[in-house]
Amino acid sequence: MAKTIQAVRGMNDLLPEQIHFWQFLEREVRTILTRYGYEEIRLPIVEKTELFARSIGEVTDIVEKEMYTFTDRNGESLTLRPEGTAGCVRAGIENGLLYNQTQRLWYQGAMFRHERPQKGRYRQFHQIGAEVFGLAGPDIDAEMIVMTARFWQALGLEQVHLQLNSLGSNAARAQYREQLVNYLSDHYDQLDEDSQRRLNSNPLRILDSKNPALQSLIAQAPQLADHLDAESRDHFAQLQDYLTAAGLVFTVNPRLVRGLDYYNRTVFEWVTDQLGAQGTVCAGGRYDGLVAHLGGQNTPGVGFAMGIERLVELLRVSQNTVADTRPHIYLIRAGDSAQLPGFLLAEELRRQLPELRLLLHCGGGNFKSQFKKADKSGAKWALILGEQEVQENTVTLKFLREEKPQLTLPQHDLIQVLKQDDLATNDFTQPS
Ligand code: ATP
Ligand code: MG
Repeated sequence: MAKTIQAVRGMNDLLPEQIHFWQFLEREVRTILTRYGYEEIRLPIVEKTELFARSIGEVTDIVEKEMYTFTDRNGESLTLRPEGTAGCVRAGIENGLLYNQTQRLWYQGAMFRHERPQKGRYRQFHQIGAEVFGLAGPDIDAEMIVMTARFWQALGLEQVHLQLNSLGSNAARAQYREQLVNYLSDHYDQLDEDSQRRLNSNPLRILDSKNPALQSLIAQAPQLADHLDAESRDHFAQLQDYLTAAGLVFTVNPRLVRGLDYYNRTVFEWVTDQLGAQGTVCAGGRYDGLVAHLGGQNTPGVGFAMGIERLVELLRVSQNTVADTRPHIYLIRAGDSAQLPGFLLAEELRRQLPELRLLLHCGGGNFKSQFKKADKSGAKWALILGEQEVQENTVTLKFLREEKPQLTLPQHDLIQVLKQDDLATNDFTQPS
């Protein structure tokens, strides 16, 4: 036998057994995005490497060590997208969507980062993200965050908490950065190797370090909040007022700085303690300078992205109920004369009952083996068409999940019986 080939490490198949959760999540989120006026944009998976280097920043984890970059046959350096914002901004500029306009956009799809695979961290993972262009005020930040809260509500996820911070203006951040570097340089020996390396390239990220040995040093570091410019402070205060008035509970986390270079003012994360170390399920913030930085007209922007794998895992551990996709009916055909009539009966039922999920047994086999498959399919009913039924224009309905005697009825009565059953509302909890 030929040797089998395995998938690339950290790149997973999403099997039918878990796809209900994905579809449920995608459907709920898409509905809410549409209700808030967001429109979908579909973007290429591959972009020029330069786009990410310039937007995300040369000295971020993503650009330094996580990107899948390759030279194509024309000698051009290309990269599998590690996130969606850069491509969205690029497309907005290129297609003239941003100048003097307001845009609320969302996207969905696979992202690629060469990280160490572990629970909640993969090399191909999936995000749904949204970006708003052309609005600078705290009201849109608030609306966006309230919308994400509505996602969790719709998905039945209660164990997620909102963290907020403001990074201020670029000028204020530069000033703060200087003070932080001074402070950290005074304690250079206490820094770990990663932080020493970041001290001059991306010192704010040191605040985000998970190393327990650094925590007290970080706690005593000068705080960005004390260095915010007046306008940013006001923006942040208004944002908090909006959120509080809308009934959202949040924590201001002065150490929340986010991994990417392009953020200013608002940054936020939704975090859960149900998933172990990889607890951030949604993260975003404001990036007023990015569009201009990528060559467009000066346009404010704000956005977020959520990690679908982590949210699906949260749905699973919360034992959430998702829509049923098991068949209502498994149709069994017994005998040669039942083959074509059974096939046509299935089509007629599908035509008359748009909600109906019907699995037609194909591939032959005796009655017993077909019946076993009917049971295994999870169907509610087995519908049996044998030679006698064909002759009499009847069909036999057998209840697979209820203690009820089977009944044989005329085919045209069957539709009425099925119509009495509420085919649309049939929920189940995925067995774990
Ligand atoms: P983390 O701190 O977990 O590395 P990040 O700051 O790198 O996250 P973002 O770039 O903000 O993540 O991406 C937004 C969301 O996408 C994250 O909050 C997370 O839910 C998800 N995500 C990021 N990287 C991965 C990954 N390698 N595998 C699965 N999900 C991921
Ligand atoms: Mg990361």
